[in-house]
Order: sequence, then structure tokens, then C-alpha cells
Amino acid sequence: MAEYKRPESEAEFKKNFKQKKALMNDTEAFYESSRCLFCYDAPCIQACPTHIDIPLFIKQIHTDNVTGSAKTIFDANWLGNACGVVCPTGVLCEGACVYNHQDVPPIQIGRLQNYATHKIINSNTGIFKVGASTGRRIAIIGSGPAGIACACELRTLGYEVDIFEAKDQPTGLVLHGVAPYKITNEEVLEEIEYLQKQLGFNIKYDSPITSKKQLKDLESNYDAIFLGVGLGKTATLNMEGEDKENVIGAVEFIEELRLKHHQIKIPNKVVVIGGGNTAMDAASESARMGASKTVLAYRRSKEDMGAYGFEYDLAISAGVKSLFNAAPIEIMGNEKVEGVKFVKTQSVNDQIETIEDSEFIIQCDMVIKATGQAKQGSLYKLIDKLEIDQKTRIKVNEVTFQTSNPKYFAGGDAINGGAEVVHAAYDGKMAAQGMHQWLTK
Ligand code: SF4
Repeated sequence: MAEYKRPESEAEFKKNFKQKKALMNDTEAFYESSRCLFCYDAPCIQACPTHIDIPLFIKQIHTDNVTGSAKTIFDANWLGNACGVVCPTGVLCEGACVYNHQDVPPIQIGRLQNYATHKIINSNTGIFKVGASTGRRIAIIGSGPAGIACACELRTLGYEVDIFEAKDQPTGLVLHGVAPYKITNEEVLEEIEYLQKQLGFNIKYDSPITSKKQLKDLESNYDAIFLGVGLGKTATLNMEGEDKENVIGAVEFIEELRLKHHQIKIPNKVVVIGGGNTAMDAASESARMGASKTVLAYRRSKEDMGAYGFEYDLAISAGVKSLFNAAPIEIMGNEKVEGVKFVKTQSVNDQIETIEDSEFIIQCDMVIKATGQAKQGSLYKLIDKLEIDQKTRIKVNEVTFQTSNPKYFAGGDAINGGAEVVHAAYDGKMAAQGMHQWLTK
């Protein structure tokens, strides 16, 4: 099990957050691509949410047609480079690779994908074409993966695109919320710059859309609007002591870490509450930042966790301790956190029950809440006739991604409640096609 020294410099931070999927060199890519069987009914394609023609791009790498390979990837997925690195390939394309049935390691599809797209981004090779102008304009709210994918696709269809972004940098959670050992800020921004240079969509930074008046202006000035607004801040638990110093949401914690690196100081003992992939990331990051003890506490059993098994294993290998069937009931301390009071739980008929007189306290100096993010419900209320479901997700047509207000389309976390970058990239692309159909019918 790894033990991490507290990083005091950028070099030490990089050492602790070494990229999980290193970039392949030419020789590795040549040999790895030679292993692909180019299956006739390739299950890897079916398992990819954007249905990239995986055997084709692998064949193109093998025949030294890296530009063609990158084109194959981007044609299906506008965030092809980021997805090659951050996608949970073990449960998607690589998990479906036929080699798994033969007890042979699957083709490293994600790393091959990253090899091709990274090369083409690095050499600044132009491969996209803006479509002939339709004279129509589309507004996109949010420059996360759904918004960026929607913008790229719309530009190839000949639309003018303005993206309204609340923050001062693009790509939403890819930049702010993905663990730094998965992808660096530089790599995320390079891909966006590469796309933007060729496709010429505009991003208006520091431009949050929060009022009815702003929405009405967009409705008058644009032919359609795409909502790629993602999710909001970490949801509150309504638990006593939640307002104490050093109680932080996981998304906010990861964002700060991604922006400030070694300059943020993590106290010695950290409790992370939650059982999803974000909880695993936050716990792993706390350990990599040199906390001497990081406890991951989940109110249900290990089997009930929403996190992928490999994400849990990664956190444990970074030195995180896990605690299951423990529900937090109070954050203790005066002004600052001093501990978390838990009660033990058990599952009865799939319902979670607390066990009487089983309270216990874990001492800590910091609590990271990874218990889900709030939805952007207050924005949705401002849009006429916009239907949302019981979980405050925007309802859309599954094929066109059009909402109940025909002028609005939506995709990404705003419609699925929180999924992978690749799902958002798919939604954005399909919504652009949906808008095109609607505007040209
Ligand atoms: Fe190649 Fe595996 Fe896909 Fe078959 S399933 S085409 S071997 S990557």
C-alpha cells in the first residue's frame, strides 16, 4: 500500500498524482494495435456510449495512419482525447473486448485512443471542416463536455455558436472535477483549444445565465438553446455540525485541488462520506496529499457502493481505510471539525436501518462530503414549460434531446443526474443533430 509524503512543490505533487494511464510511445502503440482481432461484430463498439469504430481506428494506428485514426475517433466523440484517458474503459469498451473470454488482457483501447488523438493535437493537424453557413445561431449554456460536443457538431452543420460559461475556463467537470491522476489541466485545455481553433465556436466566460430576462434575451437572439448546465454544488446533508470549518463538498475539494495543487494543505485525519466514484476520487486525493489517515465511510455495505470496483481498489491502494454500514449523524467539534459521530446500520429487506445504541465517533480534522450534487432546479424553473422529473432531471426526447419547450435541448448530467464524460459528449453531439433536424424540417 502506498504512503504519500505531503507534497511541498509542483514536482512532488506530480509525483503523487502520476498519470494512471501513461501515454503510449510509437512502439507500444504499434505492438498493441497488432493484437486487435478486428472482430466482425466488434463488441467494443457496442460498449462505447459514442460507438466509435474501434477496430477501424486501431487498424489505422497499425498502418501508421494516425491522422485517419484520430478522425475516426473525433467523428464519433468530440472529446475523444479526454475520454481515452478518463473513461472507465474497464467497464466499457475494454470490458467488452473478446480477449476477456480467453483470459488474455483486453486491448488497451483507451490508451490507443489517447495515443492517436494526442499526436494529432500535439502536431496541430487540422482535420475538421466548418459546414456551409445556415445563417442560424445557437446558444449553449455551459461549456462542459455536453456543451463543447454540441458546439463542435453544430459548427460542422453550419451554425453560429455562442457558449455561455459561468466560470473563467471551459469543460466543466473535466477540468474542475476529475481526479488529477486521471488527466492534467493542460491536456484538457489543449483539446478544447485544438477544437476551437478549427471550428470557431465562441465561449463567453464569466457569463452565468441565472435570470428570466437573460433567458428571454437568448430566446429572442438565437434559433435554439442547448442546456449543458451539469450539476450544482455538493448537496447539503442537513446534519448537525455541517457548517463547521473544514467540512467541504467533494466536488469543491477536487476543484480546489485541481487549481491549486500542492498549495492546498490537507490536515492529518480526513473522513470522506459517500460510496460513489467521487467519494473514491476525493479519498484517494486526500491520501495522495499526505493525510496520515483517510477513512472512507459509507452507510451501506461494500456491495451496495455505486463506485466502480477499480476506483475503490485505487483508493485502497493509495492508503485509504474503508468503513461500511456506518451512517454519519453529527459532525463534532467547536468551530472546527474534531470528529464525526456515526451509527451502525444494517440492511433489512433492502432498506437501511440503524442499530440501536451503536453510536461511535471517529476523530478527524476534515470532513469531505461526497454525497451527491444539487441539481440546477432554480434555473429550470425560469424556463417556460420545461418538464423535469422527480429527481430534478430535465426530461428530453431520447432521440433528439429536445425538451418539452421545443426551443430548448439538453444533455449531460442535467438529464442523467450524473454520469461519465463520454455520455455527456454523446448527448451533446446528438442534441446538435436533433436541433438541426428541428430547424430544417
Ligand atoms: Fe479488437 Fe477487442 Fe474490439 Fe475485437 S473486441 S475489435 S479484439 S478491441
